[in-house]
Amino acid sequence: MRTMEWQPSEELIRWGEEHFAGMTVNSIWSPDDSGVTFKKTDEKTFALVYRMNHPVSETHYERLKILLDACDYTVEEPDDVEVVTPPLNPQAQAHMEFERRQDIARAWVCECGFPLANNDLSDNTAEYVETVEAQTDAKETVPIDLWRYKINCAQCSEEISIDPDDFHLLAGDELFMQWTSSTHNYVALTRMQLKEFADGGMFDLSDNGGYPDFVTVLGQKKNDEPVPPWMWGLSVLENKKDILKEEEE
Ligand SMILES: [Zn+2]
Repeated sequence: MRTMEWQPSEELIRWGEEHFAGMTVNSIWSPDDSGVTFKKTDEKTFALVYRMNHPVSETHYERLKILLDACDYTVEEPDDVEVVTPPLNPQAQAHMEFERRQDIARAWVCECGFPLANNDLSDNTAEYVETVEAQTDAKETVPIDLWRYKINCAQCSEEISIDPDDFHLLAGDELFMQWTSSTHNYVALTRMQLKEFADGGMFDLSDNGGYPDFVTVLGQKKNDEPVPPWMWGLSVLENKKDILKEEEE
């Protein structure tokens, strides 16, 4: 029974037509924070594969169905759809959502069929693309730095561009929380690591000492190079890039 009054705007329908047509068959569509996941099963069909058992998620699902319908797609709801009841604790909920998205990321494949997750993800390049003006909820414009990761497929050596959030899902915190500039490698320190340095007296300024020079805090730029926004304001270990590796490149 469809009792909803909601209708998508012309703009949203145009976006949908473009977005859905651009998706390859078997790819997954999981709008942020919707708790709903669809799979494009053929050129004109989407099937629901997952839905959170939550009223907000239900509303999203109803609206996404209306949108898909308005864009001329059929929506299938198989009997074996996974419906998951979210934990009440918001932190546990966020963790569950992250793990679910990670599961989806593990299924991403290169055009040749090789899973992206099976590549050596430590062999990556984070590349600054451009700065765009984005509108906030308060209708202010703020500059946003766009970045992308590049990896090479281990099977067909095709270069693959990955959105930073997606790279985070694929590679995990440890690889995401570091950055290599043209001269140095920066690795984010955890609170525990910093605490241990502090306990070891590394930040005591007595004995005419100073802060250790291998620890620094990153701003928007480092030696005139743009720093990825997710590394801003973090205490990092600073290492000179391996000279041998530099000669290789
Ligand atoms: Zn490939």
